[in-house]
Amino acid sequence: MVDLWMPGAARHSVGNTGAMNGGPARAVWHITSNATDWTFRNELGWFTGGGADVAPHLLYDPFTGEIAQFFPADSRSLSLQNAGDVRINRTGKYCVQIEIVFTEGETVNGKKYNSVRDTPCKNLDKIVAWLRSLGIADVWPGGSPTGFTRDTVSMDSWTKLGGHYGHNQIPGNSHVDPGPMPSLFGATPVTPPKPPTPAKPKVSLAHVIYAAKHDPAAAQGHTTYKAEVLIVEKALKAEGFLSSQYVDGSFGSLTVTAYARWQRSPAGGGYVGTAADGIPGSASLKRLGAKHGFTVTD
Ligand SMILES: [Zn+2]
Repeated sequence: MVDLWMPGAARHSVGNTGAMNGGPARAVWHITSNATDWTFRNELGWFTGGGADVAPHLLYDPFTGEIAQFFPADSRSLSLQNAGDVRINRTGKYCVQIEIVFTEGETVNGKKYNSVRDTPCKNLDKIVAWLRSLGIADVWPGGSPTGFTRDTVSMDSWTKLGGHYGHNQIPGNSHVDPGPMPSLFGATPVTPPKPPTPAKPKVSLAHVIYAAKHDPAAAQGHTTYKAEVLIVEKALKAEGFLSSQYVDGSFGSLTVTAYARWQRSPAGGGYVGTAADGIPGSASLKRLGAKHGFTVTD
């Protein structure tokens, strides 16, 4: 079920609903462009009073984030002129019209604003989310409006292509609003989910000690041992202590020699004498794992 009344918008039904003609859903953006009044409250009073016969669906203040709604989405609203016998307000399954309370060059808190694009666009994302929920595509068939000029699309485009339009693009109309529009669809970039950090391989200290102390071939019979020894050997090779032909999963004498070199190295702990015997100890193996991406279990 779609919400025909935008969640969070103040509902000010003006009645006088009318059926839509069907086809791709679309939205049309306007600005109120009022030379003397830039307040949401007064525009709200106009559209629910004397201006009800030109009311849009939504009235939106990009500074305060206030939103009011006059028609449900499945009714036509009244802010567009017909083009000959084409009833423009009724084009599409939905033709949601939004009047932004904005006037080119208006001053708010001492700052001059030349277009809606320059405003804070507070809650605009909520409107876009609602339009999406109605199936209105994230696209401007005539391009995102960039100026206060006519940029009319063909009647064929208007009737066949859903998405977002500026009033300045609608056939049979003469207005030049809304002027430069902010980016509606890139405003909240979707952060791609982080790929899960691959779990670090685990090396059992007991297994590699077993492999180093006992017949390496016997240890190789244990497939997990072999895999663990390979991890250690690859790390020793990366350290430059073991040549690649001995990275074979067998903790033979050359691997023992290589591990002893790791133990004697500063990074491996700087062990001397019998402490650097080439049989992995917990501390030196953890150091190797920390540097080469494996964790050490007992
Ligand atoms: Zn307009």
